[in-house]
Amino acid sequence: MPSDRTRTRDACPGALTTHAADDGALARVRLPGGRVRSSQLAVLADCAEALGDGTLHLTSRANVQLRGLRDTAALAERLADAGLLPSATHERVRNIVVSPASGLVGGLVDVRPLVTELDVAICARPELGALPGRFWFGLDDGRGDVGGAFDDRVDVCWRAVDARRGSVLLAGADTGVRVGVSEAVDVLVDLAAAFGHHRGEAWQVRELDEAQRGAVLASACGDRGDGAGQRAERGEDVVALGVIAQDDGRCAVHAGLRFGTATAAQARLLAGTADEAIVTPWRSVLLPGLDPGDAAAAQRRLAVAGLLLDADDPAATITACIGSPACAKALADVRADATQAISELAARGDVPDGAAHFAGCTRRCGRPPGPAVDVLADGDGYLVDGDTVPAGKLAEALATKGRR
Ligand code: SF4
Repeated sequence: MPSDRTRTRDACPGALTTHAADDGALARVRLPGGRVRSSQLAVLADCAEALGDGTLHLTSRANVQLRGLRDTAALAERLADAGLLPSATHERVRNIVVSPASGLVGGLVDVRPLVTELDVAICARPELGALPGRFWFGLDDGRGDVGGAFDDRVDVCWRAVDARRGSVLLAGADTGVRVGVSEAVDVLVDLAAAFGHHRGEAWQVRELDEAQRGAVLASACGDRGDGAGQRAERGEDVVALGVIAQDDGRCAVHAGLRFGTATAAQARLLAGTADEAIVTPWRSVLLPGLDPGDAAAAQRRLAVAGLLLDADDPAATITACIGSPACAKALADVRADATQAISELAARGDVPDGAAHFAGCTRRCGRPPGPAVDVLADGDGYLVDGDTVPAGKLAEALATKGRR
């Protein structure tokens, strides 16, 4: 196990440690559980407009990125004033992904209180401030939409198995450890601390070998697990786009965003619709707690503003990295090519059966969790699940992957 972890720098951006991209500084603002108050969302919209490229870019860790920034000090001040920067030392490690609809509809346990508890616990442990910025905590309310075998990027996850207990997952594998709801937060932060101790140069648990994972588990959980490492399967899929009936009789609106981006105007519209917004790992937004009539009206307003409320809209199934010209590594303007493919699919009435992700290089940034058709720029055109396809034939290639 290499011991010199300073040889490679953690380049994962935060709100204070920004990344220099080709289109300017890039900041990533952590939103534990994806939750953001409407007043905070409005601040993010103002920041994007006044200081950046005018757009909020959602991430598959349910965070928000601001790009094209010209004044990062002013950004930090605005974020701190809005309560979006509670810890300067831990701001990059508050990556907590949660079943987005928990406490609204379905699920075995309402994990929302655990999000706050976990966020506080992470920030209270000084050693966790040194975790890599891409380290990822997960809380699954039992529906199986976070951190299972379909997404080994979630490093440590607690998944409810009934109303009182949950399983502990490491990089998507069930460790065999079962702990109660009241123990979940302590176990997750202990696992994170153990990872920090045993990680060597690894950035994530999935990079550890079996012996290292065993050491992490033993440090945090003793001999409580059987270490079986079974796959933790995917359960229910993400809640559908549109109006959703909550268990309490109220409604939520689930709005998709083209390429996971919202203009400042769209973000303000979202902020004006509900008291809070929940950014999902699918780079969409849930707006909870609405009266049924208000939800129906909101759905219409949001659709007119260009948000995606219909699962049969091809734009709702296609994601893409930023591509060129914003990213120097990109071999194509993937969003332009994806937009063209979406238009052609819509004109043909074809909806690809499942997700597709366009990427400008093999890093495949922003790839959604779960299965997705791989659309990879190769300099001449694209490789679609490995098959060479010219840029002008992408809609055809995606349509042949299945029709609804
Ligand atoms: S996948 Fe490659 S081209 Fe796309 S944003 Fe990431 S690094 Fe850039």
